[in-house]
Amino acid sequence: MEKVIDFDPMNMEKDANYGEITQDRIADLIRIVGENGVFTDRLEMQGYAHDETPLVPLYYPQVVVKPRDVPTIQKILALADQHRIPVVPRGAGTGIAGGSTPVLGGIVLSLERLDRILEVDEDNFVAVVEAGVSLARLRDEVEPRGLCYPLHPGEMSATMGGTVNTNAGGMNAVKYGVTRHNILGLEVVLPDGSIFSSGGKYVKCTSGYDLTQLIIGSEGTLAVVTKVLCKLIRKLPRREVLYVPFNDLQNAIDAVPEILKLNQYPIGLEFIEKDIIDIVEKHTGREVPYHQYDAFLMIFMEGESEDEILNYFSGVEEICKRHGACAAMIPGSEGAKRLLVESREKFFSAIKEYAPVESIDIVVPRSEIARFIKAAKLIARGYAIPVIAYGHAGDGNVHLHPQCVNMSEAEWHEKLPLLTREIFEIGVAFGGAISGEHGVGFAKKKYLPLQLDEVQLNTMRAIKRAFDPNNILNPGKIF
Ligand SMILES: Cc1cc2nc3c(=O)[nH]c(=O)nc-3n(C[C@H](O)[C@H](O)[C@H](O)COP(=O)(O)OP(=O)(O)OC[C@H]3O[C@@H](n4cnc5c(N)ncnc54)[C@H](O)[C@@H]3O)c2cc1C
Repeated sequence: MEKVIDFDPMNMEKDANYGEITQDRIADLIRIVGENGVFTDRLEMQGYAHDETPLVPLYYPQVVVKPRDVPTIQKILALADQHRIPVVPRGAGTGIAGGSTPVLGGIVLSLERLDRILEVDEDNFVAVVEAGVSLARLRDEVEPRGLCYPLHPGEMSATMGGTVNTNAGGMNAVKYGVTRHNILGLEVVLPDGSIFSSGGKYVKCTSGYDLTQLIIGSEGTLAVVTKVLCKLIRKLPRREVLYVPFNDLQNAIDAVPEILKLNQYPIGLEFIEKDIIDIVEKHTGREVPYHQYDAFLMIFMEGESEDEILNYFSGVEEICKRHGACAAMIPGSEGAKRLLVESREKFFSAIKEYAPVESIDIVVPRSEIARFIKAAKLIARGYAIPVIAYGHAGDGNVHLHPQCVNMSEAEWHEKLPLLTREIFEIGVAFGGAISGEHGVGFAKKKYLPLQLDEVQLNTMRAIKRAFDPNNILNPGKIF
């Protein structure tokens, strides 16, 4: 196992020898983007100095640019490459790994003005969108046509470019997979300003390396994504949720493999522990049903009719009861269903409001979830740091939040890196990975060597050099 070296951005800055953003460079950028697309005022740049990652401090860029078209992006990158200026591509800034935080300053390249839906091809079930289009906008465009882009992370303001670059997952991954399973092609601009399109409106392709898949999940370190071709599916008319309380998380997790062996597949299958229910009740001021129990499963199912779903749920209920479920509830109205699902979607915002927290996004084989959480909590008890757990039981993705309660922030900050490292070590020992869906970004980079060996890391570094020999695109991330 590799030793974890704490990342020191100052050291990297010294080594990197990046070019300065002088008044001449700002004038160049204004010439390229136009006066109303270049921002240097500190107040205006504040929103671009962070994403949604807890505990990452503000890192200000020297300039934020907001181009409206692809040729402008090509010129910005060519200029930055020529002068070796760091460029941080940014979508909506909802990331939870510090990926769009400009840790070395430089240019933040915001894709927010590339926000056109270019085509909804109903014959081929493909949407072609610019990178700055949000998931919510795409949903609003395609749903009235009876179609759906099935990716559903908790934050629908996230952009297509951002979700492609983090390979976002979310609550529908059990049935529909993560972002990489739903993308058919990309248009990207390389750091030297050149451009290519990969993939197309087809499902099969074996013509050389798959550059689309290489760029998905690359966290803005290889290329700037400007256009996305995504798969659409027919939206099934009914969607319901079954909510099942248990007295013990192990019992809940033990039911999951059996549920997935039924002859139909749910869209999503979430697990929840009691601690987070208490917090979300305080956050929303609303009672969550069966809040007295210790653990919960939430099973999302879609179908042609209510009867079809109820039939599936009765099979699920039977399995859950055999595993000690205390009850099973299908919300009786659309309103009750919305409130229940909203409670789940509010977990992250509620936790952040309650106390300082860290965000750990580990993935383990799904049968190991309960044992892994037990082991992680045992470690955390040694540090007197409570850890909240919830996540995607259907795909093994566990969100852990060590909290700062009953302890000074100074003591917590001292202990937290040791605890986090131990949790990652145990996750890897369980056959897992340090990030399931949020990415490595800046926040988790020092832990990556716990999972990947030198051969893997060097192969990745070689790929990075092939795309970006001057290391201008999102430097200080992943490695
Ligand atoms: C409340 C909440 C709930 C969330 N729930 C989930 C969840 O369930 N599942 C999940 O996977 N995530 C979740 N997230 C995390 C977040 O929404 C995703 O990581 C999302 O993919 C980020 O999209 P964005 O547009 O905000 O990207 P940003 O945060 O702006 O950027 C993310 C990364 O992508 C790069 N990038 C962005 N756009 C481009 C581009 N056009 N070209 C090249 N690189 C680019 C950035 O440099 C950065 O490295 C949640 C976040 C919040 C706040």
